Amino acid sequence: MKTYLKNGYIFTEHGFEKRDVFVSGDRLSLSHSHRYDESIDCSGLYIIPGFVDVHVHLREPGFFYKESIKTGTEAAAKGGYTAVCPMPNLNPAPSDMESLRAQLDLIRKDAAVKVFPYGTITRAQSGRGQLSDMEAMKEHVIAFSDDGKGVQSQELMEEAMLKAKAMDKMIVAHCEDESLLTGGYIHEGAYARAHGHKGICSESEWGQVQRDIELCKKTGVQYHVCHISTKETVELIRQAKKDGVRISCETGPHYLVLCDEDLREDGRFKMNPPLRSAEDRAALVEGIQDGTIDMIATDHAPHSAEEKSRGLEKSAFGIVGLETAFPILYTELVKKNVISLEKLIELMAIRPRQVFGIEGGYLKEGQAADLAILDLSKSYTIDPEQFLSKGRSTPFAGWQVQGENTMTFVNGKKVWER
Ligand SMILES: [Zn+2]
Repeated sequence: MKTYLKNGYIFTEHGFEKRDVFVSGDRLSLSHSHRYDESIDCSGLYIIPGFVDVHVHLREPGFFYKESIKTGTEAAAKGGYTAVCPMPNLNPAPSDMESLRAQLDLIRKDAAVKVFPYGTITRAQSGRGQLSDMEAMKEHVIAFSDDGKGVQSQELMEEAMLKAKAMDKMIVAHCEDESLLTGGYIHEGAYARAHGHKGICSESEWGQVQRDIELCKKTGVQYHVCHISTKETVELIRQAKKDGVRISCETGPHYLVLCDEDLREDGRFKMNPPLRSAEDRAALVEGIQDGTIDMIATDHAPHSAEEKSRGLEKSAFGIVGLETAFPILYTELVKKNVISLEKLIELMAIRPRQVFGIEGGYLKEGQAADLAILDLSKSYTIDPEQFLSKGRSTPFAGWQVQGENTMTFVNGKKVWER
């Protein structure tokens, strides 16, 4: 099967260029050919390497009522993603080959895009006690993470880092010091004080990042920090990079666009880490501009409508993100001249591949045909009822946005079309 994508702008290492491209089998070809099976007019459209989200929750096995491999990856394809990395807070949690196999079988059967799962750091993803069977899982997982929980014991984290280093695998950390938690559920700041809510302090995040940076220096492991949300974390990572630590990090679209001043008494605004202060948001924006923050990941975390209906205090933590990330970021950051379109593609499609060693990237001859085709002129309102994800809870419901994915190819096969 050969598909001719004509008259589009393609994203190469030199930026966007107006150029025809052919999808031939699972590869790209830039050399002109008169023989093809299908041609698609891409006039005015932007053809990019598909986005890669290194932080999603697909909820299967164990929580099928929230999301499944099928619905989660269909949502990813619609959002322009060609690869996602699901976190291991599952049942069973993948902490040995037996528990991982259940997930691998579902991925093989149901996934619409490429799926690279994490294995846990600790057994049953408890954050304590014993390490998982990292050795047995190493060939089948992208990296190790206990996302949802911080690894509380310094000794255990050091042991995990040494093991990961010896296997040449990454540690991907959800940083949260539980000894600093006092039952909070939104940022400990002005909104929490004004409305009588319990807060989550910034130090619960950056304190553990600081601890882990020291452990990275000691062990030499390749280390990635999940969903950073505080200005202190940005500064710690900026300094660690200057010091030559093998560190990378991600933040989420919501932390770049919203802050605690935007909070409403609604579970749609509840996630962990929480929306922080306007100052924190400004520091995160600076972090993406200067490269301290390597990538944007959604932390797509679907829950049932009931679980999200109990207000700020009682709702489950987490919002969906795969179907809104690009339009929100394009509208709020690119259209408002905070970053360029090219920078946004770097943050969502290029750096995740480089840091995590995932195939694909800048479009060129012979590149993997994992593509999204974007229509940047399309304006619309975000309507959760249109989501393919089972999760509908997002603070962006009703937002007016611009920019829509029109088509997604994975391994040269069209997996989604507007
Ligand atoms: Zn997390």
